[in-house]
Amino acid sequence: MSTQQLPVVVIGAGPTGLAAAAHLVERGIEPLVLEAGPAAASAVREWSHVRLFSTWGEVVDPAAEKLLAPTGWMRPDPAAYPSGGDWADLYLQPLADVLGDRVRAGATVTGVSRAGRDRIVDADREQQPFVVHITYADGREERAFARAVIDASGTWVTPSPVGGSGLPALGEKAAADRIAYRVPDLKDPAVRARYAGKRTAVIGSGASAFTALAYLADLAKSDGGEGTKGVWILRRGISGSTFGGGEADQLPARGALGLAAKAAVDEGHADAVTGFRTEAIERDANDRLVLAGEDGRRLDPVDEVIVLTGFRPDLSFLDELRLGLDERLQAPVELAPLIDPNQHSCGTVYPHGHRELSHPEQGVYLVGMKSYGRAPTFLAMTGYEQVRSVAAAIAGDLASADRVELTLPETGVCGGAGLFDAPDAQEADGGGCCAPAPQLVQLGAPATVGAASEQAPAGGCCGS
Ligand SMILES: Cc1cc2nc3c(=O)[nH]c(=O)nc-3n(C[C@H](O)[C@H](O)[C@H](O)COP(=O)(O)OP(=O)(O)OC[C@H]3O[C@@H](n4cnc5c(N)ncnc54)[C@H](O)[C@@H]3O)c2cc1C
Repeated sequence: MSTQQLPVVVIGAGPTGLAAAAHLVERGIEPLVLEAGPAAASAVREWSHVRLFSTWGEVVDPAAEKLLAPTGWMRPDPAAYPSGGDWADLYLQPLADVLGDRVRAGATVTGVSRAGRDRIVDADREQQPFVVHITYADGREERAFARAVIDASGTWVTPSPVGGSGLPALGEKAAADRIAYRVPDLKDPAVRARYAGKRTAVIGSGASAFTALAYLADLAKSDGGEGTKGVWILRRGISGSTFGGGEADQLPARGALGLAAKAAVDEGHADAVTGFRTEAIERDANDRLVLAGEDGRRLDPVDEVIVLTGFRPDLSFLDELRLGLDERLQAPVELAPLIDPNQHSCGTVYPHGHRELSHPEQGVYLVGMKSYGRAPTFLAMTGYEQVRSVAAAIAGDLASADRVELTLPETGVCGGAGLFDAPDAQEADGGGCCAPAPQLVQLGAPATVGAASEQAPAGGCCGS
């Protein structure tokens, strides 16, 4: 079999990987989508309880919609905000179903290389197919060959740690039973009991942190939730931009998240601790956790810690490939300047495609959430445009691959996990980039800020 007849392996059956498969099918190229979890959209299902800040109109890929149309699939109201669970059940699973046995669940990719060529061998490298090692849920191992590899495996499984220097804080692992790295589902009675009446530190400054603070505030106001208190720990100071783009955000529901967090602080459900970079987590005599800062500060004890400091890509299984990655963001070198939170603090990214996503190793692409490396503010529609262009490039249609067919919304949640902020400078300049002083507004969905978390669009990708 010639290399051209081999399938394109797509790693991950999330929104981006499934969209990539749809675009490949549209071009008559066979995809093989390998998904580590038990079903398509496994990562999205883990945040089923979180409402997106994007509407249905912004999270359905056009090629996927075409593929679904003959099955009688109807896109939900384009103006409505799905939850992660809705996104998985009403769109991503039907899409996986229509792709049929091109999608394999319980299939973890553990390694990708050129067949017979490790990373250092030049000879005929580009002529060799890719070899992909797979481990199935039952422990069986297999290898598959591919003409190209699209890595859409996201970053969900590799959250960043508490430590202000990017390393786990001292004692972080030992305190694992009290630390969560995702926005908790407070509708789940067991999870609710864990946080009700407790003092919880929320570490992070992006949409996920806003969401968690709003959820805890709702819990404090609910029956049985009396005494629930959040301690919001920021590595930077509070400024005009702390709460995101507010009403200036072109995605209103995303802007509203910051305003819900502001309400939590203003109403006294959370205390903000600024300029705090955690060095250690210790247990006190009462088995509560004490966070110690790099500046020597020790905070009052808390019962629980929720860490929402962003995600980072797992590059371990790509070690035999010649990737061109930016040394700061771990994103493709051409893409990195477009998304660098040190420069683009408001998340304005122009649409991009195969050229920005290519590597010295031809035929391999990191797309979707993973393409952003450690940068925040990834949007699903960015990923859809990426895979449209990449599929066109693999098909040899460079005219289409080079065309930009998308306009992305501007502004948003400013700043990023990788930034170092001198709190004084932030406060003095009023926060710099995009945000007017946030004001309390009605959230995009029909809910007041007080009832934020039950109804309101929420999120978690941005600047966490
Ligand atoms: C809480 C939250 C809210 C968000 N809200 C929005 C929003 O409102 N609007 C918006 O545009 N974006 C939002 N995002 C950002 C982004 O659009 C989503 O994260 C989206 O799910 C990214 O899609 P993806 O396919 O790139 O990655 P993922 O959804 O993470 O999918 C990757 C898949 O790859 C699988 N996988 C991982 N490793 C392997 C492996 N080694 N082998 C095989 N499979 C593997 C995973 O199990 C997963 O199913 C949000 C993100 C989060 C976390």
